[in-house]
Amino acid sequence: HASQSVTIIGLGPMGQAMAAAYLDRGYDVTLWNRTPSRADALVARGATLAPTAEQALSAAELVILSLTDFDAMYAILEPAKDAVAGRTLVNLSSDTPEKARAGARWVAELGGTHLTGGVLCPPPLIGTPDTSTFYSGPREAYDAHRATLEVITGKSDYRGDDQGLAALMYQLNMFIFWPAMVAYWQAVAVAGAHGIQAREIAPYVTENFAGMGHFIDFYASRVDAGNHAGDVDRASMGLASMEHVVHTASDAGVDTAFPAAVHDVFRRVVEAGHGADSFSWAVELLKKR
Ligand code: NDP
Repeated sequence: HASQSVTIIGLGPMGQAMAAAYLDRGYDVTLWNRTPSRADALVARGATLAPTAEQALSAAELVILSLTDFDAMYAILEPAKDAVAGRTLVNLSSDTPEKARAGARWVAELGGTHLTGGVLCPPPLIGTPDTSTFYSGPREAYDAHRATLEVITGKSDYRGDDQGLAALMYQLNMFIFWPAMVAYWQAVAVAGAHGIQAREIAPYVTENFAGMGHFIDFYASRVDAGNHAGDVDRASMGLASMEHVVHTASDAGVDTAFPAAVHDVFRRVVEAGHGADSFSWAVELLKKR
């Protein structure tokens, strides 16, 4: 084992789940959080709450940060700067690739090692085998701590030494996840306006999401080849269909801002003269600054 001790800074739902997973495996777990009471249940299970961030850093070579963003790291570690040297900081906080690179430089200047990470599962799945986390940063640090990090998610996906890459890969997933979930809330709202509950449509929504893999697979190689042929779908059909979606929402008295934004993308594709091409031409539209 590279390490049987681990420090976790940040006890939101994620940090708490990570701490619990390490306690389950018998690790010595040291915690620090701005709001100390969030450590109570974990301390009752044997974790140690450090009185200061500096003491939390000193307690273990491997320090996991699970914070809202990188600004929170500076807020917490600025007063504890002297204790960063010699530590490996695995930052699992979401932020932009640029913020991750700058954060990694800041840690390196203090004599520490930084690894960027992006966790791809919600708190209840932390500590389970079929979950994964992107990592990027120095390969040696990843190799040295891989086994310990795979307590958090059973799998890990090392993307290279550019500290921004794990953040980028994570953000690419978020481009899909958040809007997809808002699309779902939109469908639930429209269903609700018709007296249909979320539970009733859940199987159909699940099937819809499961079927997305077919579309990703089909369009990925076409888009990479610049092929937007309208042989299976036409953007003009997509525009008409999105119009029906917007009108179904407005007829139900439901907010239309979100589907209207999608409708606007389709409209611009058609107005650019690509109504007979696939709606995948939206990629070309979106690339333009
Ligand atoms: P939260 O935003 O709930 O956790 C926030 C943590 O950051 C808390 O410990 C909070 O302290 C601390 N914090 C925030 N701002 C500051 C600050 N200025 N100074 C000091 N501490 C601060 O996030 P989660 O636990 O849900 O997630 C952690 C990270 O993991 C996030 O970056 C999130 O994007 C990512 N993630 C979350 C998933 C989820 O489903 N929850 C899934 C995948 C990734 P305090 O307790 O005092 O408020």
